[in-house]
Amino acid sequence: MLTIDQLIELEVLISDEIERLREESAETEEEREAISPDVSIGRLSRLDAMQIQEIAKEGERRREERLPMLEHALDRIDMGEYGTCERCNEPIPFERLREQPETLHCSACA
Ligand SMILES: [Zn+2]
Repeated sequence: MLTIDQLIELEVLISDEIERLREESAETEEEREAISPDVSIGRLSRLDAMQIQEIAKEGERRREERLPMLEHALDRIDMGEYGTCERCNEPIPFERLREQPETLHCSACA
């Protein structure tokens, strides 16, 4: 079982991560506008611009997957369900939660 201190640490960690992902998302939006075809792309060749967009898109996809999982983790903390494996109902070790706070499963069930 997690102690209150560990739970608080994880809640802070999750909130920070959500904030970071949202900020990154906003920055990506600006970058995308900066390299839209209507805008002069300066020294960047069109190919470079396309590669940057690909990378940005990949990052965006990862963020879109992770954000709801992190928000769900916060809900689970509120409901007192956080830190328990959804499959086997065993407590998930603190170290694992710190590495991957949005996880719903222990290492054995993952
Ligand atoms: Zn499990």
